[in-house]
Amino acid sequence: MALETAEQHGGYRITAINLVIGDLTSIVDDSVQFYFDALSEGTPAAGAKLNFRREAAAAKCLECGHEYPITPPLDPFCPQCDSAFLQISGGKEFFIESIEVDDEDTRG
Ligand SMILES: [Zn+2]
Repeated sequence: MALETAEQHGGYRITAINLVIGDLTSIVDDSVQFYFDALSEGTPAAGAKLNFRREAAAAKCLECGHEYPITPPLDPFCPQCDSAFLQISGGKEFFIESIEVDDEDTRG
């Protein structure tokens, strides 16, 4: 995915990739970097640094309307009224937010 984007940028060397990862995913930063290093070897993205931004999940209590951010491990009860009727949103993202390329060659 990152490599395709790099090609759209004209094949410049990728210096950094900014990723958004939801808090509720089981994705571990270190393992992503590990796989990325292996996959990107010999490509314009080799040696690029991965920057992770953790996206917090939110819960809304359907009983009292209380909304609050949640972090794993999940507490299945509303902190305000102890209801278990919670609506969970967010926290499952995993996408590339932006890519930084080395475009010095095109400047001045
Ligand atoms: Zn509640």
